[in-house]
Amino acid sequence: MSQDSLDPSDWGAFRRAAHELLDACVDQLENARERPWQQVPQEVKDGYTITGTAIGETELANRLTSDVLPYHTGNTHPRFFGWVHGTGLPSGLMSEMVAATMNSNCGGRNHGALHMERAVIDWSRGVFGFPDNSSGVLVAGTSQGTVIALSAARLRALGPEVRKTGNGANTLRAYCGAGAHNAMRKAMELLGLGAGNLIRIPDADGTLDLAALKDAIAADKAAGHTPFAIIGTAGSVDRGTFDDFNSLADITAAHGLWLHIDGAFGAWTRLADAPYRALTDGIDRADSIACDFHKWMYVPYDCGLILIRNEHEHRATFAARPSYLAPLDEGLASGDPWYCDYGIDLSRGNRALKVWSALQAYGPDGLGQAITANCHRASELGTIITRAERMSLLAPITSNLVLFTADDTLAPAAQSDLNRAVAQHLQMTGHTVFSTTDFAGITCLRAAITNHRATAEDMQIAIDGTAAARALHLSK
Ligand SMILES: *Cc1c(COP(=O)(O)O)cnc(C)c1O
Repeated sequence: MSQDSLDPSDWGAFRRAAHELLDACVDQLENARERPWQQVPQEVKDGYTITGTAIGETELANRLTSDVLPYHTGNTHPRFFGWVHGTGLPSGLMSEMVAATMNSNCGGRNHGALHMERAVIDWSRGVFGFPDNSSGVLVAGTSQGTVIALSAARLRALGPEVRKTGNGANTLRAYCGAGAHNAMRKAMELLGLGAGNLIRIPDADGTLDLAALKDAIAADKAAGHTPFAIIGTAGSVDRGTFDDFNSLADITAAHGLWLHIDGAFGAWTRLADAPYRALTDGIDRADSIACDFHKWMYVPYDCGLILIRNEHEHRATFAARPSYLAPLDEGLASGDPWYCDYGIDLSRGNRALKVWSALQAYGPDGLGQAITANCHRASELGTIITRAERMSLLAPITSNLVLFTADDTLAPAAQSDLNRAVAQHLQMTGHTVFSTTDFAGITCLRAAITNHRATAEDMQIAIDGTAAARALHLSK
């Protein structure tokens, strides 16, 4: 360490250590198939304790290679199908290196990353058919995007005074499908609107029942409540189903409500081929869309997007410029927009670069083809399961979500035990990652295919592994 700063005293040594570390990272991506999730050994966990001893960058590079890189989430492996995890991109290794080097603060001001974020928002706007003057901001994920969207919807319902006076005595109510994600509930809680005012409308075949929705709105109005938003889901977390956005838009228009779409992963089927693309028809009529680049666009964590149709309402919800943030006409303190005016964060990392890099490297068509291929893999997996002895699907496959049981001949409780045991065994052995969820009265196995490394053969291997794990469990 030099005397004057934290920079290396020997840049040559730093360069050599950094090059070796880069090689280790490239090796890891190139050999992703040989490197599934593994349990972190106790001595490695213990070694993470901060002792206070400075080891310098060269030793740091060694430790990053030996003690950190191997213990990832597993989602870079071709048979990772758990929850809904993005699988990362080689372009991300390049863009994250550059982003760390530049260390841009993207809350505002006049520099490259802000222009790039604008380009990413403009491109996304085009994908979803939003008007030229709509606005957006890159966020940590759909959970944060939902808070931003419902804040803007609340401002529309209660007026700009809400920023000063709070919710007051109003009971604002939002409506969503039975299978809507927990992030909707969290947003209602955080905004002080109350989870009890998120009304879950029953599903008809996995999509929000429109007649029941209309009844609920009418009943709430009669009771003196204030309906303010309808939340449609593009890709439900358990089943991958899509609400009917055109009908939801008709209902929101009739009642003057805000239409928000939770498209965390499913919104990106907009880039896929038929028939998947049409699942999002009508999404262009929404007031806001939240989705993630880190799930089905494969971009490294974290990066979500919130788009708001009316820029004026978006800005009115968040903008505030105390004197220490006042702009100048030219120079670094100029520029517009400043993204701090569109959301929660003031200091923000450079999320745009990894999205821009992915779009440059693979193109929207390349990413769209990967999404289409994932839907095909899900359908192939469904066929293999249907043909496999004693296994069965629990719901039809709409997009990329597959729910199944490893043995449909057992009683429900025994099936649940078996499915949990199979998921655990396949995870522990680094074979395949399925997650589990409760559906149709049992705990089932769940595969969400958002993995561009998964081949058709991987689907067969995953089910062969499932059969083997079943035999092992049932022989105990
Ligand atoms: C993942 C997910 C969310 C939450 O998004 P985060 O990026 O994890 O905050 C919301 N809705 C659905 C349907 C999801 O799959």
